[in-house]
Amino acid sequence: MTERKAVALPNLVTPNTPVIFNPDKCVGCNHCVEVCQIDVFIPNPEKGNPPIILHPDECWYCGCCVNDCPHPGAVKFNWPLQQRGYWRDKETGEVFRLK
Ligand code: SF4
Ligand code: SF4
Repeated sequence: MTERKAVALPNLVTPNTPVIFNPDKCVGCNHCVEVCQIDVFIPNPEKGNPPIILHPDECWYCGCCVNDCPHPGAVKFNWPLQQRGYWRDKETGEVFRLK
């Protein structure tokens, strides 16, 4: 009788990117750093630049940082693929996703 071995391996850790800062519009006020309850960000040591995403995989997607930013367009969500809205063309079956 052949002996079989089974192994179980965890998924590889792939760093998340919960939000994307627009350095042209972000003024580095750090309001998003303050409102994030999980401390995903830290202030950028270079004043006036977007915060640094230090703990990306801790994000809850609660929305506070993006919704409370006083500078429109400075930061936007980067939803995980499986959480993005999508629709399918009934005739072709082609899938479209929000970006
Ligand atoms: S993204 Fe908005 S809230 Fe955050 S530092 Fe930039 S301007 Fe301020
Ligand atoms: S969505 Fe919420 S948890 Fe995620 S970085 Fe913004 S404030 Fe923090």
